Amino acid sequence: MSGDKLLTMSLIRRSLFRLLVCLVCLTAGALAGTAAPPNIVLITVDTTRADRMGFLGSKRGVTPNLDILARRSVVFTHAYSQAPFTAPSHATILTGTYPQFHQVEDFQVPLWKELPYAPAILKAHGYQTAAFVGSIVLDPSQGLAVGFRRGFDTYDAGFHLAHPGEDHYTSTDRRAAVVVEHALAWLNKRPAGPFFIWVHLYDPHFPYEPPEPFLSRYKSAPYDGEIAYSDSALGKLLTYLRAHGLFENTAIAMMSDHGESMGDHGEEFHGFFLYDATIHVPLLMKLPGDRFAGKRIENHVGLVDVLPTILQAVGIEVPQEVQGESLLGMMQPKPPAASGDPPPASSPNPLVYSETEYGVRAYGWSAIRSVRTGKYLFVEAPRRELYDMAADPKAEHDLAATSKAVADTLQAQLDAFRRKTSKNGEAPPSVSDPEAQEKLAALGYTATSTDSAATAAMGGGADPKDKIEIGNMMGEANYLLEVTRLDEAAALLKKVIAKEPNLWIAYAKLGATEANLGNLPESVKARRKSVELMPSDANLHFELGKVLMQAKDYEGAVPELEIVVAKMPDSWKTHLMLAISDDRTNRLPQAVKECEAVLAVLPEQYGTNLLLGRDLVLLGKPEDALPRLMKAASIRPRAPEPHSVLSEAYAKLGRNEDAERERDAAKRLAENGPVPGPSEP
Ligand SMILES: [Zn+2]
Repeated sequence: MSGDKLLTMSLIRRSLFRLLVCLVCLTAGALAGTAAPPNIVLITVDTTRADRMGFLGSKRGVTPNLDILARRSVVFTHAYSQAPFTAPSHATILTGTYPQFHQVEDFQVPLWKELPYAPAILKAHGYQTAAFVGSIVLDPSQGLAVGFRRGFDTYDAGFHLAHPGEDHYTSTDRRAAVVVEHALAWLNKRPAGPFFIWVHLYDPHFPYEPPEPFLSRYKSAPYDGEIAYSDSALGKLLTYLRAHGLFENTAIAMMSDHGESMGDHGEEFHGFFLYDATIHVPLLMKLPGDRFAGKRIENHVGLVDVLPTILQAVGIEVPQEVQGESLLGMMQPKPPAASGDPPPASSPNPLVYSETEYGVRAYGWSAIRSVRTGKYLFVEAPRRELYDMAADPKAEHDLAATSKAVADTLQAQLDAFRRKTSKNGEAPPSVSDPEAQEKLAALGYTATSTDSAATAAMGGGADPKDKIEIGNMMGEANYLLEVTRLDEAAALLKKVIAKEPNLWIAYAKLGATEANLGNLPESVKARRKSVELMPSDANLHFELGKVLMQAKDYEGAVPELEIVVAKMPDSWKTHLMLAISDDRTNRLPQAVKECEAVLAVLPEQYGTNLLLGRDLVLLGKPEDALPRLMKAASIRPRAPEPHSVLSEAYAKLGRNEDAERERDAAKRLAENGPVPGPSEP
């Protein structure tokens, strides 16, 4: 059968689903009309593998609270994430759209305000909305999850980059218990009416270091300990809901955004591959009134289906743009087979799509895409892969070469699916702000190269399968950078470079590390190499310019910063750095121009007013300098410098009395220290 035919059949099945789901929806709507609207609790536990869940058959005993919840829920045994990465996966969960549609492929692509978005939809239906997240990577105030705040009355995050020596649990992320505590505090004080809360726990993400007693109890399996600890925190949330009579009339959806490879197919963490270790995820849905409690759904479903399911479960119409399918139809008992058609609720697994652009965006390798359909897992990559998951659940025997026709069909299906589900038109521009890039870099995340982001397609680089050792080493280096173990990070990055001498990102990170260690010449060397390998990336020029300035090589910094202002004319920070470098290298007219660019955005900048005033005096324009210098003096009345330059300006204008007064003011301020009160003109 051709790929198109398979796709058409799958689409027909899906429209039958929709029909059935509408009926379910009507029932839910009728119920909602007579009773209070149900509350909604969305729980995402980061980096949590499906095979650790007791309710999915794990014997490890790490999820007692979730197992109890599962008995009141519908359990999805074959739920799959659409992306093995925090931002794109959460964007899919919260919008019900695929990554190729919402395009939040990494931390800095903003979530468009036109996208359907759970909190915005629910707020419009009278819900109180609140988010409680566990990591800076989902903190919109830090420029990393841009657009995620929309529709939330409360967005409880408040993270910052760790200061040297500061613990990551008090800076970039926080323990599950703290997240849950904040959620409970909010629930205690919430206004009347239905609520939607999103609780995100980050603990199972590397590093695996659960608190006691889980640390001792899971000494040999600390990752399991993190999951057990998260489960215990969720136990408190569920106990609260029960104790306050909220459990019954609340829809609770629990899932993870992706799993963790832990060595599967050679991958340590997550992001590069699309095998079950990172893509098969836990998914529970407890419906209001515990409808269909205890039901197990074996069909393949995606996290993209969560939002439409929740909306229909509480009787809210699903926006047209939502691409996922409500799963309520699957939960219904099978209707009697009246016609010749098979009942839609028992339709076999539709196609489940996943992708990752981590390889191409972060390292210039290749993107990877996959479909799971029937018994097959097909992976599109420079060397494509095909697995029969029924016979080979660990995906160890690649059939792509021997079952070429199947692989071709699935490739055609994948292409057709992408064509139908991709967003047409311009991609939203990434936030190309050097400060946000620095924040990402300090977190160990890769600042996306503007050029590789634009490629969007597969990328055409190396197959991540061939590069996974480098990927793992970079993952460890990222962690060492995040916890500021800089010597170890530098040593590891040098090892990476020895193996992969053309990896620009390794040089960029080494450059940052050496600068933080105070080794400026080493930093300049590494930064220069990164620019040489990726000359189109403005952020790399910015970082090179910055470290050259630190090393007092202003002559070298000027051309780098000029490249940056040409590409990012809105970056006032770059204009300021260029102004200083121009000034230090006696390019005074250029310095004046750059100062003016800064002051157009930030007119109250003390240093820029002073610098501009001084350079105008040096250029023989003392008249023009006066207002700038007076401004500087008024911004910092205790600083002697503006008065000292004012005195020069007045002297050049022949206003000797004014010059003398300013000289005295400067002298007095310098000698007597700070003088309170506004300065004289
Ligand atoms: Zn994640």
